Amino acid sequence: MTMDDLAFDQRHIWHPYTSMTQPLPVYPVVSAHGCELELANGERLVDGMSSWWAAIHGYNHPRLNAAMKTQIDQMSHVMFGGITHPSAVALCRRLVAMTPEALECVFLADSGSVAVEVSMKMALQYWQAKGEPRQRFLTFRNGYHGDTFGAMSVCDPDNSMHSLWKGYLPENLFAPAPQSRFDGEWDERDMVAFARQMAAHRHEIAAVILEPIVQGAGGMRMYHPQWLKRIRQMCDREGILLIADEIATGFGRTGKLFACEHAEITPDILCLGKALTGGTMTLSATLTTRDVANTISNGEAGCFMHGPTFMGNPLACAVASESLAMLDDGAWQTQVAAIEAQLNRELSPLRGNEQVADVRVLGAIGVVETHQPVNMARLQKFFVEQGVWIRPFGRLIYLMPPYIIRPEQLTRLTDAVKSALNDNTLFAR
Ligand code: PLP
Repeated sequence: MTMDDLAFDQRHIWHPYTSMTQPLPVYPVVSAHGCELELANGERLVDGMSSWWAAIHGYNHPRLNAAMKTQIDQMSHVMFGGITHPSAVALCRRLVAMTPEALECVFLADSGSVAVEVSMKMALQYWQAKGEPRQRFLTFRNGYHGDTFGAMSVCDPDNSMHSLWKGYLPENLFAPAPQSRFDGEWDERDMVAFARQMAAHRHEIAAVILEPIVQGAGGMRMYHPQWLKRIRQMCDREGILLIADEIATGFGRTGKLFACEHAEITPDILCLGKALTGGTMTLSATLTTRDVANTISNGEAGCFMHGPTFMGNPLACAVASESLAMLDDGAWQTQVAAIEAQLNRELSPLRGNEQVADVRVLGAIGVVETHQPVNMARLQKFFVEQGVWIRPFGRLIYLMPPYIIRPEQLTRLTDAVKSALNDNTLFAR
């Protein structure tokens, strides 16, 4: 990539959450292998992000590449309306087999946000079909479910600036974020506000929607499994649906194949994405029970009202199937457990650092929360100079590397975090 390419990028291309008048710097990556990103100048960075939770097997994996190449020689895409194909069937067979037994019906779509839209639509259509229309969702503060409007309406109202969309965005119900930590004691009082909201609005609530165990982009918070057990019980009691958004947590990231397993619960609707294709292509899946699917199908519309152009894209399905086959051998369990142990060893001592408010580790996720917000552009540059790719935001510096990361590579990441904490110029004052 030339300087001219970078100038064009800066002038014409929007990057996630950036300004067109004051764009943050971007780093040109020309290839990625294993656990490393290669910059245009030949430098290699150890990847601590898995490209936002997705590249669990690392980059350029020969098995994933082969699956895509084989599929591309058959067909890269064909419409899903009135047509099916072997890769979609193979993928959905795997998804139905690896998720809880009750989740039998799969809807494939393009991205995580769309999976969330689909899950919310399923809940709305379910109640419509029952002749008891319900139009509100109950969720936690500090949640993140995507950037489309339905998804945004259940994201943290402050983080996702609900004030910007007032009058347009549906107004949903927000309970305080869970306080009982994953690694702490369960505190019954934590439930009070949530239970009150549910009781007060029990006939309006179509579904509870939450990120099980780990609240990701809304704060990288990890909460007690008892929360999920209790919410499941309350939803059952009231007949309210439970949507688990496992787009970030799914496929082993928290140490269980799905985070709901920490509490041994089954949601009525499950959203999957990100690591579904091993981080190679965009694809999501929303699974639900036969009861929800049949109720929707017997309702006024007679069908589920959604059908994107690239639904069931064969290329994405083929590589997703292969990624799930790779998880099948179970090696991820040892890899994630080893990452967790090393993150605990190397990040826990940072609790003593004066910049640090908290350190949290679960599975292949390590979080250092700081007192001061980071200076994103400066800290990013610092990390690149240290030979690592870590993308902090707000008061969070976090690591979620590919499962295949080697111990010495992980130490490069934790060492870089340590060094950053000792440099006050990298934090806003
Ligand atoms: N849900 C959760 C929990 C997420 O973390 C994300 C993305 O970060 C999404 C939904 C949205 O997924 P996507 O960015 O693929 O639309």
